[in-house]
Amino acid sequence: MDEVLKKETAMEKIRQETLNCKKCPLYKTRTKVVFGTGPANAKLMITSEAPGYYEDRKGEPFVGAAGKVLDELLESVGIKRKDVFICNVLKCRPVTPALENRAPSPEEIRACTPYLEKQIEIIKPEVICTLGNYSTAFILEKYGLKNQIEGISKIHGKVFKVKSLFTSLKIVPLYHPAVAVYNPNMKEILKKDFKTLKVLLEKKILKQV
Ligand code: URA
Ligand code: SF4
Repeated sequence: MDEVLKKETAMEKIRQETLNCKKCPLYKTRTKVVFGTGPANAKLMITSEAPGYYEDRKGEPFVGAAGKVLDELLESVGIKRKDVFICNVLKCRPVTPALENRAPSPEEIRACTPYLEKQIEIIKPEVICTLGNYSTAFILEKYGLKNQIEGISKIHGKVFKVKSLFTSLKIVPLYHPAVAVYNPNMKEILKKDFKTLKVLLEKKILKQV
């Protein structure tokens, strides 16, 4: 079977699993599971925190205010959203009555991240951009870089290289785009950091020629 089709088929299988998932209590309050969008053979993967209100309604990541910022950031460096696999650490919206869009709990992260790990395993991206503290901590720890974990204000824009027999990957933690919704200064920092992503992706393309 063609390699891309193989990846797409494997991804669809995982997607179906998440649609029926009841591994943590968030299945009770979700409207839709937000599995993630993008090609199963994407070079760049963006992992963020969790769906918010609009994502939960639509079943797609980054369709609310933070999504607008993300679109603008991608566009500013000429990366097409349709070429990027975008997903979250949690596939369902973390919400408790009277506490909208709360942070993911450690139990929810433990229950849900096997799906993210399978997504990474299928895609085998060249670059993972982690947005915000939760996905940054999870991804760095997964690749044995736990001792490098710092607050996002310290490590945003740094490039962590992972090289082993089976993996050749760059991890780039960035601020979560939500911080820039009402703050133009943060948007400028994010735009600068997004240029790093572009450079990493282009280098790879040049090497392949
Ligand atoms: N914030 C996130 O972390 N993920 C989304 O999908 C939307 C907003
Ligand atoms: Fe399952 Fe993840 Fe949704 Fe919890 S958040 S129900 S583990 S898909």
